[in-house]
Amino acid sequence: MEPITSQPQTNITAKPIIDRSAGRVDVNKRKIINGEGADVVQLWPIKHKFAWDAYNVGNANHWLPTEISMQLDIEQWRSQTFLTPDERHALKMVLGFFTTADSIAANNLVLAFYKHITSPEARLYLLRQAYEEAIHTQAYQYIVESLGLDGTEIFNMYREVDAIYDKEEFILSFNQGIFDPNFKTGTFVNDQKFLENMCVFSLIMEGIFFYSSFAVIFGFQRQNKLVGSAEQIQYIMRDESTHMNFGIDMINTIKQEQPELWTPTFVERVTNLVRKAVELEYKFAVDVFPKGIFGLNAEGFKQYIEHIADRRLSRVGIDPIYGTANPFPWMSEAVDLNKEKNFFETRVTEYKTGGTLAW
Ligand code: FE
Repeated sequence: MEPITSQPQTNITAKPIIDRSAGRVDVNKRKIINGEGADVVQLWPIKHKFAWDAYNVGNANHWLPTEISMQLDIEQWRSQTFLTPDERHALKMVLGFFTTADSIAANNLVLAFYKHITSPEARLYLLRQAYEEAIHTQAYQYIVESLGLDGTEIFNMYREVDAIYDKEEFILSFNQGIFDPNFKTGTFVNDQKFLENMCVFSLIMEGIFFYSSFAVIFGFQRQNKLVGSAEQIQYIMRDESTHMNFGIDMINTIKQEQPELWTPTFVERVTNLVRKAVELEYKFAVDVFPKGIFGLNAEGFKQYIEHIADRRLSRVGIDPIYGTANPFPWMSEAVDLNKEKNFFETRVTEYKTGGTLAW
């Protein structure tokens, strides 16, 4: 064994990490990606106010799955007669999608997305968002455990059930380039690739794939079935709508900051991706309702998916594809928690801000 002879080295004489010659932050140079001389550790002054606002909304909406009583759901699920086999199948299918979807979303944020963002306030919100994705995964696990479902079966559905696999494989295929440790923003091709990934996550994953599964759960709720699970999903949907709105604000801000990226070809690409996503989601709906339950069937879902796909496209200034009317007007009521009377009576009110129901 070699004797230890030298003292531990310090970096004191090496090139300093903090650049003191750069002067103070010029907030006008701050951009979502490719910020010139970006100092990502200085939150102040804030330029992208939508990110700071989203962060505060997230904090005001804080919740935890274990605050919601699952007692009624447990009794309903245990009863051999209360839920039909088709209803049981539909619940398992949406849980099969949900249980892994939020982990995919979290990985995208933390491993692919965060390091390329040069706006400290956008990074601040991404940290909050990543935590919320963890809470959502916890919520699905809590539903699975409460109902006594086979967790191994549900958590493996993204591998084993084609319609779920196809959706998640589609989403993940857009991450590959960005997960590459050598990927860097700053070229036209890579910046478009990054923007494409944002469109896939915000418009398709959070904006389309999540929403039709939310609708299934609210279909149960409208029948006074699985109301505890539905309440969990209502909180999740409130968070997800902030995630989606933040993502759309990010896309629209990049469009302003780097207008050269938003070419007609790019718009066509995004439109085609949404078209493909609608097909995948319809295939999923067919597997969720092979025969239809409580007035919901795959055809109704097709219209709903087309309706929300158009809405997501128009939020980033892309022409709608389908022009389909909303077949589920009650979904906008489910989105509006303000209309839910006594919604918070069942929850522990330890957080002062928890009662804030603004979306
Ligand atoms: Fe999300």
